[in-house]
Amino acid sequence: NAPLSEVDPEIAQAISDELGRQRDTLEMIASENFVPRAVLEAQGSVLTNKYAEGYPGRRYYGGCEFVDIAENLAIDRAKALFGAEHANVQPHAGAQANVAVMTAFLKPGDKLMGLSLAHGGHLTHGMKLNFSGKFYEIVAYEVDAETGVIDMDKVREQALAEKPDMIVAGWSAYPRQLDFARFREIADEVGAILWVDMAHFAGLVAAGLHPNPVPYADVVTTTVHKTLAGPRSGIILSKEEHKKKINSAVFPGQQGGPLMHAIAAKAIAFKIAGTEEFAERQKRTIEGAQILAKRLVAPDVTEHGVSVLTGGTDVHLVLVDLRNSELDGKQAEDRLHEVGITVNRNAVPNDPRPPMTTSGLRIGTPALATRGFGEVEFREVADIIAEALKPDADLHGLKSRVATLTKDFPLYEGLEDW
Ligand code: PLP
Repeated sequence: NAPLSEVDPEIAQAISDELGRQRDTLEMIASENFVPRAVLEAQGSVLTNKYAEGYPGRRYYGGCEFVDIAENLAIDRAKALFGAEHANVQPHAGAQANVAVMTAFLKPGDKLMGLSLAHGGHLTHGMKLNFSGKFYEIVAYEVDAETGVIDMDKVREQALAEKPDMIVAGWSAYPRQLDFARFREIADEVGAILWVDMAHFAGLVAAGLHPNPVPYADVVTTTVHKTLAGPRSGIILSKEEHKKKINSAVFPGQQGGPLMHAIAAKAIAFKIAGTEEFAERQKRTIEGAQILAKRLVAPDVTEHGVSVLTGGTDVHLVLVDLRNSELDGKQAEDRLHEVGITVNRNAVPNDPRPPMTTSGLRIGTPALATRGFGEVEFREVADIIAEALKPDADLHGLKSRVATLTKDFPLYEGLEDW
């Protein structure tokens, strides 16, 4: 029972250094967040020891009476939070949830229509090196070249011409809300299953600040670790009629034993996501992104070729357009890293630069909102980013402004003694 620091000092050091990095920098990767202590505790608990193949009440292993309680709580809370008839909480991650949905509803060779990766879609929506692109025939829809927004008339035209078996609505890099009612109509018109992947915006949905896709879609997947701020993992929500098919696609279809420590942590995250405090945090998340977008379209920034795709945002992220800037995505990412802000470069639609450099940045506010940032702090962050993207930026001065913010908003206080 020796502590980690004795058993494996190298790993202990890596964890400690990572904690320091999270504390001392501004985390603005749109898909990341800070989980609460309760989630860390559940994930580091003895539930990790337990095998529980099967589902609550119908396991292939003995001794599941307590993990059944945890999984039932996760299921009931997920259903209540999103108004779903059925929830499968076993997918190890978002990608696994998506594989299960595809195998539940499609045969290899069937046609899947999803948003192009280059236009903000996810790998699992049909990228050619991914499972989805290898096993299914892919039709990709795109955002409009002028507006950067998905044009639903074009989606309809494409769906009528291609007759996909399944349509996926969802994104990893898109700053606007999707029209779920219209996707439903189109899916019905062509006889396709409608799948919504709300991995990015599920927290906003839980808070009632974004339309809920559950009433419209046949099936909805999400990760739990982005705006939802829970453990790294995925879940699937559906109508009751698809329950059997989905459960058997997850287990035994493509997973073995569920990660019971992660499932308990999901239950905790769903409980928290139903609170007023969580809704207030999601509100600050969206407001922070809107403050950032507004700052980055001000004339003193745009004169240097920097702008924002679609001109703003309705969600938790901003897509910075650097097509007319001297800085490419990689250089801009490195510059922000230098001042202590972590973001990721991101291709913009029809990007003239190669995928390793790109002409864009994806900047998200969920982690900083969790850290406690409100309007005042987001204004300061937006200004630091705006200044950093200008030529001749005083990176040293900006770094000390970042340090003031991180010092004023301590993260995981006392974690070393938990
Ligand atoms: N779906 C979408 C829309 C995503 O953005 C992501 C993650 O970035 C995933 C699925 C996959 O989640 P995971 O990384 O947990 O497999």
